Amino acid sequence: MPYRNLSLRRRCEMILGHMDLTHPFSLDTLCARIADRRGRPIRLHPLPREAAESGVCGLWVGTDTVDYVFYEAHTTPLHREHIILHELGHILFGHHSLEGEEIDGQTPVVLGRTNYTTRQEQEAEMLASMIRIHTSGTGHPRTAPGPRGALARLESAMGMGYERGRHDGG
Ligand SMILES: [Zn+2]
Repeated sequence: MPYRNLSLRRRCEMILGHMDLTHPFSLDTLCARIADRRGRPIRLHPLPREAAESGVCGLWVGTDTVDYVFYEAHTTPLHREHIILHELGHILFGHHSLEGEEIDGQTPVVLGRTNYTTRQEQEAEMLASMIRIHTSGTGHPRTAPGPRGALARLESAMGMGYERGRHDGG
């Protein structure tokens, strides 16, 4: 990527700058726009139970023609939305997806396991959070702290080892 050396926040802003986020925020509209741009549909699916039980909360699986975003369904709507935004973050940053194979139009069989770098996880997580913050003006008034404060907290949190909401200092 040409802007690989820019700060994480700048890189997210550049991606968001190319997106026309709607007010109020609609996840479906966002998915449709990204799909449109990529020329591939994005389908949202609850995670298969085995995956959810292994502690995964979201997955992006690409087949030849479709991008599937799997999300942990047994959680709050807000958390579910964040999981999906995180996976969309991986898509928007152009990370690699897990490979999947559709058999008879069923939900795809997943080949392989997630193996993103810490940097890629930070990118996806930051983008997810920034989409939330950018759209929170009208979409989620009760869950929206001031954009500045939220971003500052986010950035300081991301300065440490970051993985799925856990700070392990790594
Ligand atoms: Zn991730």
